[in-house]
Amino acid sequence: MEPRALKNPYSDYDGIPGCTAAYFDTHGRLTHEFAGRVRCKIAELLEQMHHGLRSADPRDCTAYTGWAGISLLYLHLYNVFGDSSYLAKALEFVSKSLNCLTRRWITFLCGDTGPLAIAAVIFHKMQKQRESEECLNQLLQLHESVVKLDSRVPDEMLYGRMGYLYSLVFVNEQLQQERIPRQYIQQVCKTVLASGANLSMKSQFQEKSPLMYEWYQEYYVGAAHGLAGIYYFLMQPDFGVSQDQLLGLVKPSVDFLCNLKFPSGNYPPCIGDTRDLLVHWCHGAPGLIYMLIQAYKVFGVDQYMIDAVQCGEIIWNRGLLKKGYGLCHGVAGNAYGFLALFKFTQDAKYLYRACKFAEWCLDYGKHGCRTPDTPFSLFEGMAGTIYFLVDLLQPMRSKFPAFEL
Ligand SMILES: [Zn+2]
Repeated sequence: MEPRALKNPYSDYDGIPGCTAAYFDTHGRLTHEFAGRVRCKIAELLEQMHHGLRSADPRDCTAYTGWAGISLLYLHLYNVFGDSSYLAKALEFVSKSLNCLTRRWITFLCGDTGPLAIAAVIFHKMQKQRESEECLNQLLQLHESVVKLDSRVPDEMLYGRMGYLYSLVFVNEQLQQERIPRQYIQQVCKTVLASGANLSMKSQFQEKSPLMYEWYQEYYVGAAHGLAGIYYFLMQPDFGVSQDQLLGLVKPSVDFLCNLKFPSGNYPPCIGDTRDLLVHWCHGAPGLIYMLIQAYKVFGVDQYMIDAVQCGEIIWNRGLLKKGYGLCHGVAGNAYGFLALFKFTQDAKYLYRACKFAEWCLDYGKHGCRTPDTPFSLFEGMAGTIYFLVDLLQPMRSKFPAFEL
């Protein structure tokens, strides 16, 4: 009995076209009826979120639980539906965020560079170039300290260098130009490689894993704080990691991580943790899947894809979490794993599974799940579920927010 998830009540994809016909056609386009239900839910949840945010912490600037996350959702709504009132909302929320920056953390999700990057994009889209430049300048001012090896900045996504790097990539991706020169991105990766090689040398894993990273004295494995999130970025094309470094440093480190797999196909939250409990984006298979697919793209080794597919099975069987419907450790975040598999394989099975998890989200609040601390936020709460439902309307363009490239 899985204590952290509810039993998946749905029948799985059986390969017979009839099983997907209610959800999408042979080209992966959602049916009129199902897309209509999803759109209705988006409107309803937006309304609820809007009311709920009245009781949100007014001083939380972050994309993870604060105003920048709500702004990112509205920017996404604008990008998908093109309605300029969404862009105005995005500006309203990012302005709140800019008024209460942490002045301490440097990442997209939990620090100041998320708000700055999101604001730079929104201002640019509103033809407010001076304001956009101002945000970019502030964003780039932090670069020097991030790429300094001895700056004691961690390397992971939520508080470390990769979370800074994502802010730079986000700007270029949203503006569809190399607005931030690629050298800035490459320098971050160079520092992260050096940092990982240093720690590996000091660790007991030196022989097995030429790179190693820690956060608060733990060797985390997952996407949020750990190795999988870091390696996912190090394997991106044009991020400045040479073929020699990929083969000599990154691949053996990825392989070391792959060997931590539990018999179930899931992964531990930290090296040495033997409890096979967490099936979240932040810890476990739903976060590992992106690294595995990327490793397969880069190195062409079948085992990576076999492991990624196994992650999909874990998510299907244990992914309807009692923690709720959010992104970080919730059903919406887990469903993105299916979308990642669908985008890469075009296998209807994964789009079907994503639709089934979306159907679960259409019954938001009806499963007796726990209410998160920040119930309307992007990464823990309702905003994240809405973000996912919007992405389901255009599955081939979907991306796990603030992470997937
Ligand atoms: Zn989480």
